[in-house]
This record gives sequence, C-alpha cells and structure tokens, in this order.
Amino acid sequence: MRYVSTRGDATERRFCDILLEGLAPDGGLYMPVHYPQVDEATLARWRDLSYPELACAILSRYIDDIAPEDLRQLCARAYTAERFGGDARIAPLRPLQGRLHVLGLSNGPTLAFKDMAMQLLGQLFEYELARRGERLNILGATSGDTGSAAEYAMRGKRGIQVFMISPDGRMSPFQQAQMFSLQDPNIFNIAMQGVFDDCQDVVKAVSADLPFKRRHAIGTVNSINWARLLAQVVYYFAGYFQATQRNDETVSFCVPSGNFGNVCAGHVARMMGLPIKQLVVATNENNVLHEFFQTGVYRPRSSAETQETSSPSMDISKASNFERFVFDLVQRDTQQVATWFGPTLARDGAFALDTPEALRRVHEVFGFVSGSSSHAQRLRTIAWVHQACGQMIDPHTADGVWVAQSLPDTPEPMIVLETALPIKFAATLQEALGQAPTRPAALEGIEDRPKRVQRMAHDVQQVKAYIEAHAA
Ligand SMILES: *Cc1c(COP(=O)(O)O)cnc(C)c1O
Repeated sequence: MRYVSTRGDATERRFCDILLEGLAPDGGLYMPVHYPQVDEATLARWRDLSYPELACAILSRYIDDIAPEDLRQLCARAYTAERFGGDARIAPLRPLQGRLHVLGLSNGPTLAFKDMAMQLLGQLFEYELARRGERLNILGATSGDTGSAAEYAMRGKRGIQVFMISPDGRMSPFQQAQMFSLQDPNIFNIAMQGVFDDCQDVVKAVSADLPFKRRHAIGTVNSINWARLLAQVVYYFAGYFQATQRNDETVSFCVPSGNFGNVCAGHVARMMGLPIKQLVVATNENNVLHEFFQTGVYRPRSSAETQETSSPSMDISKASNFERFVFDLVQRDTQQVATWFGPTLARDGAFALDTPEALRRVHEVFGFVSGSSSHAQRLRTIAWVHQACGQMIDPHTADGVWVAQSLPDTPEPMIVLETALPIKFAATLQEALGQAPTRPAALEGIEDRPKRVQRMAHDVQQVKAYIEAHAA
C-alpha cells in the first residue's frame, strides 16, 4: 500500500514513512491510494477473530513494511483484556433499547475512546524508532483526553519522551490526577498559566523553530495521524460482528464527533465494503459538521465563536480530519481540495459544495446523516438512559444517543459509539441524575496519589529550556 496527500503531492510513501509524520509537505493529509476491498468470504473469516487478530487482519491490508509476525505481536500487546477493563472483547457491544446499542470504546487506561488508537500507536512508534535507531520527543497541548491517552500509551516506551502542556488548574481534578500521578521517567507534565489556546500557541512556537525541532526530534501525536485513524477502523468491524449474525445484514453507526477522526474511520470501513447503512455525525452546540451535512457549506469557526459546553471534547472550531472525506467526495480531485482548504477558506472563511447533486451524494452514496444536541437535551438523555435502561452514559455519548433516537426509525441496528466513561464527567452526571457515577476500583483515591508536574509561566523560552534539559 502507498499513501498520497489530499492536496496533490503525489510522492508515494509507505506506511512507516508517514507513521511519525503529521501533515504532508503540501499541507494536506495522507490517504491510501485505494481502499482494500473486503468481500463476503473475508467477512465470514473475520467474524470469528479475537480483537487483536481482527486488528492485525485489517492493518495488514494497509501496512506492507512491517513483517506480518511483528504486526501480529504489536496488536496483541496493544489490545489486552488486562489493559481494557478485563474484557477480552476490548470493544464490547451492549443493548440499550429497541434498535439502539452502545459500543464500549472507553475501557482503556484513560476511560476514553482515544485509548483505542493511542495504545496501538505507542507500540508502532516504539517498534519503528528502534528499527531506525532514532528517538522522539512528543510535544503536545491538551485540555484533557488526548494528552492523557498519549501519556498512558507512551509511558515506559523506549526512545520516546512525552512533554504535555496543560492549562494550570483548568482540567477536572480527576483528569489532573490521571496525568500527574504517572511516575514514569519518560513522561513530563507541564502545567502552564493560561487557557488551552495559550498552551497550543507555545507548542506551535516551539515547533516553528525548525533547527530546535530537528535537533531534539520533536514530534506530535495529533488526530490527523493516519495510523490513529486506521486503528479506529477496527472497532467498526468488531461492532458490526457483534450486532449481526450474518454478513448480509446492515447496521448504522452514530458517532459523537469533534475533529471528524472517529467517524472518518467509519467512512473508511464503509468504503472497504463493511455493510454500513448510515454514518450519523452527532455534534454538540459547536455544530460546524452538522451545518455542512445539512447545507453543504463548511464554515470553520473562530475560537471566540467556539462555545464551552458540557461535552467539552467536542468543542472544536474546525474539524481537522474532514478534508479526508472531502477528498473522497470530490472523487480525489486534489486540485479542488487544495483550492477549498487553501485559498477559499483563507479568503471566504467557508466553502460550499457547488451543486445540490453533490449534497445528495453525501447522503445517498456516502451514507452520511447528522444531528446536534444541546446541554438540556444531553442532560435529558443521560436521565432517560439511566431510568429506562439502568445505565449511566457520559455527556459525549449522550449527544450520540440523543441524535440517534431523534432520527426516523429504520430496521437495522443503530450502534452509538461510547467515547468516554461517565466518571470522567462526574459533575454533569451529578447535574443530570442527582448522583455521581461509580468509579472503577483501580481509580479509587487517584486524586490523593503523589503528583509529578512542572508548573510554568506562559513562556516559550522556559519550555524550550525544559525540553533541552530532559529530551531523549
Ligand atoms: C476526542 C473525543 C471526541 C471527538 O472525536 P473526534 O475523533 O475528534 O471526532 C468525542 N468524545 C470524546 C470523549 C473525545 O475524547
């Protein structure tokens, strides 16, 4: 398999060439030159595989520069029952009500679905760095979920150090405890004065110093990484197999969405031939994506226009993986993609599909549907699921359930992806139910553990000096 850029750089790269990279040199995102097709016989074979075996089977269609036996071992190490809440299914499906089901993607070490991809990324990074005899210093900014998933994936990995900047005092006590209680010598938490955007600015400033970046092999683990997306394709297959008996049945998925990474993996699974009827994009009040799927206009927001909501991991102003879908929508017309995401967005702040026919294709050919949820609807959904189904769901998953159950009823199973466990957002659960969610035993008292964190002013030089002193 070879990979090319969505914006026209046609230099063909192999998987391990793009594994440690972010954007393509022309500013586009990497995509496979084609989608490997999965036929009926293959689906039948895959139905009985364990999660790590299924992961290996899917990944090997996209990765031909890692020996099959090595890839098998990396998948086996990433997806153990021990690391995913003691359940060997890794992503267990549970019924909610009627055709609604929930796919549990949040049983990993940080209790959010980002572990599903990040745990594999940790294995792949360590493997490839060792093979090249290189090292990597991962620098990132986080407001919660991504940073902790990255730290838990990279802890103890050879050749990798993680420097994660978070806004001092602005994460929940539970999120702070999750990150700051890690005692691994290769994990460095920096709590910085300011808000998330200030942290992000410092990361950008450090990365813009190219000699510094090169000298210290600075990299990232952001959501546009192709390997992360690929790892997420696996659980669409796993969810399908659990919800169906036979391979001529269809299912739909409803995906709480922010950066369009999660649901883009569903798009890839569907393009490979997995029988997915609809892909439902669920947003919160920050409904950039819902607006596109309703009107055909993509209009990213400024950070001033981005609301702080009670499903904060979906509070995004632009959907950084969306370009991948647009690439397929315009039948891989890289000129069109480069124009829309380059000059058109810069000039007009938006672009629009040019014909009603194009918007019809979004729905009918690609199966996309969308909806959005508000704070009140989120709370009502949490309460309804608790009352009617005896389960607690987190506010992001609630956005998904709300949107899924407000669509016209169709016969196929509707699988809502559970993107976090309720304990991560205890205050909202308390507001919705008048009671706090129960906590996994392993996390009792996590707030009282010793913390390993460096407090710092909003100062690029200080961060650079700190990296200089501690880099791998
Ligand atoms: C990251 C995240 C999302 C959004 O996922 P995208 O891939 O950015 O669309 C939704 N819910 C939770 C809990 C998350 O951490």
